[in-house]
Amino acid sequence: MSKVPELFGSMVFNESVMKERLPKDVFKALKSTITEGTALDPTVANIVANAMKDWAISMGATHYTHWFQPMTGITAEKHDSFITPGAEGAVIMEFSGKELIKGEPDASSFPSGGLRATFEARGYTAWDPTSYAFIKDHTLCIPTAFCSYTGQILDKKTPLLRSMEAISKQACRVLRLFGKDCKHVTTTVGPEQEYFLINKSDYAKRPDLILTGRTLFGAPAPKGQEMDDHYFGSIRPRVKAFMAELDEELWKLGIYSKTEHNEVAPCQHEMAPIFETTNIAVDHNQLTMEVMKRVADRHGFVCLLHEKPFEGINGSGKHNNWSISTDRGENLLEPGNTPSSNAQFLLFLTAVIKAVDEYQDLLRLSAASAGNDHRLGAHEAPPAVVSMYIGDELGAVVDAMVSGKTYHAAEKTHMDIGVSALPNIPKDTSDRNRTSPFAFTGNKFEFRMPGSTFNVACTNTILNTAVAEELRQFADELEQAENFEQALSELIIREIKAHKRIIFNGNGYDDAWLVEAKKRGLSNLASTPDALPHYTDKKNLQLFTRHGVYTPVEVGSREEILLEEYAKTLRIEALTMLDMLRKLILPACAKFSRDLAEGVALKKQIGVDAPAEVEMVRRVTDKTAALSAAQDVLAHKVEAAKDVLTEAFAVAPGGVGARKLSRYYRDEVLPAMKEARKLADELENLVSKEYWPFPTYSDILFYV
Ligand code: ADP
Ligand code: MG
Repeated sequence: MSKVPELFGSMVFNESVMKERLPKDVFKALKSTITEGTALDPTVANIVANAMKDWAISMGATHYTHWFQPMTGITAEKHDSFITPGAEGAVIMEFSGKELIKGEPDASSFPSGGLRATFEARGYTAWDPTSYAFIKDHTLCIPTAFCSYTGQILDKKTPLLRSMEAISKQACRVLRLFGKDCKHVTTTVGPEQEYFLINKSDYAKRPDLILTGRTLFGAPAPKGQEMDDHYFGSIRPRVKAFMAELDEELWKLGIYSKTEHNEVAPCQHEMAPIFETTNIAVDHNQLTMEVMKRVADRHGFVCLLHEKPFEGINGSGKHNNWSISTDRGENLLEPGNTPSSNAQFLLFLTAVIKAVDEYQDLLRLSAASAGNDHRLGAHEAPPAVVSMYIGDELGAVVDAMVSGKTYHAAEKTHMDIGVSALPNIPKDTSDRNRTSPFAFTGNKFEFRMPGSTFNVACTNTILNTAVAEELRQFADELEQAENFEQALSELIIREIKAHKRIIFNGNGYDDAWLVEAKKRGLSNLASTPDALPHYTDKKNLQLFTRHGVYTPVEVGSREEILLEEYAKTLRIEALTMLDMLRKLILPACAKFSRDLAEGVALKKQIGVDAPAEVEMVRRVTDKTAALSAAQDVLAHKVEAAKDVLTEAFAVAPGGVGARKLSRYYRDEVLPAMKEARKLADELENLVSKEYWPFPTYSDILFYV
């Protein structure tokens, strides 16, 4: 491997390349576009485009693409080559400022939730200069936002950028009250990515993995994760080689891949990057997932990003570490060393507490999908109830403030605290709470609900906007105050008292917590069809419109797209199950019992009884009949979904119809799938291995 510093960012049109390749004044203009969002002059854009093209060609690129994040959750690209006809039948390589700034992919095949009729298929992509262009597969990729011609947003990135503006504006207002001249505040994100690596040869034999990303059948292996021997265990050489190449590929793309380790489940691993500005972190996480899949392929592996590829062992999540910092690099969620800096910290902390309490439904639905429904509340990931962990030390400070009592710090300083006499807030020394959905981890929050396949743009759009709203309310109130310190103290105490119910430092996996959470009035949106309809609750529409993040129509379209995605996912899973049952599992069971029966008959001819085999034939035959019946039930439910669909949309097109359809899949199709799986898994344990038509959990998870 060449030296890491040289390798790092070598495929990125980053600041040092810009500096080297652009005239000074153009570089300056571009820099102010990047940092302050000033519009770029067309002549400047032309020069930038040309420099980008020359650089890309020198790195072996032949094509360019606007790289965007439609509502499918994955990234999209359409490649154009740089070639333009030149004189005498030759070509020249060209790329204009116009092509850099704006693209026009045919938008008709991307989900829009009724926003854009297919006949008005046009949408356009607009360059996001804050995220560097990069080269992937001989193609210059330009990060962009994606909108319809009527201006409605069709992607996940535009609202994210808007939410970052919103929180910046409100946080700057608050900071001004503390006498700070701050022009810009950004949120930062470090998304930890979990994944599984399995053998390509096993994958190729499992239609369920190929078509749905998860196993729809599979009896548990005799061994699971109970020995805790995988987590942080030594990494097998083949996986190690994969990780080394993954790091190298990510570093080339300027992604700070930092930590790689084994996770709890067999074959499960994690990569944690160093945090970055939110929109860039989101772009980089999307790229990371893509690169993981590709590098895995080169090592004879398949990388599974599904939230629950295997039943009975842990699934995969994506921990969204989030904080806010100023243009001077001050982390606003870092407790300070003086009472006044701690007062500022406590105000931002209060804003987050209030935001999480008031918008718990939005945070929950930002992690809702068919795949993630298998994880949340399954004692391996946080429950579907959103709560916050702030640690013992900070908890004690907060308790003392609201109760007006004396604060007993760990190092035995006792003090009465008002904002003017805040103690040094000690860093939490207690164990981190791994079961909390939203945990304070010293200088940032870790939101642990999102699933491993998620584009975390949505989660961060919601988080940024919700906190922006609380900061707006605080700024409105405090800007009017005559005595700032007193008003600040009153506000913090009042708001913490009002939203204390969201703080829970105990074990989130404990069933008793669900009872307690209900008493506290916290919402428990157990499944995706329960969660998503809250997108369009009045308070949530108000939130998004007030901060210019989404229009109500855009929120409605998102709800509809995601509910439909849920129904479609379950439909594909059910159809895949039926296919596997008919073509693989039932025939295998029939053949096994028939061969056994033939053996029994042969033995009988020579006067030998075979009672054990007779019993096996009986058991397998009976269970096969039950499975066949379960298959019929499932087939019927899937077929009937068509009528539910027609009826639901006839009565109520759009969101309401999608709600009904998603509930039908959850309540009717999912249980029928579970029943069929249960019987098939029992049969797997009755049928001889040589007859079983695809690799089992033991084969996949322990023989890699
Ligand atoms: P762990 O939770 O495993 O102990 P760390 O505390 O090192 O790990 O960080 C976990 C993730 O949080 C990393 O991706 C890291 O970059 C990210 N992180 C650290 N500080 C911040 C911050 N200020 N804003 C956003 N993410 C952060
Ligand atoms: Mg973590």
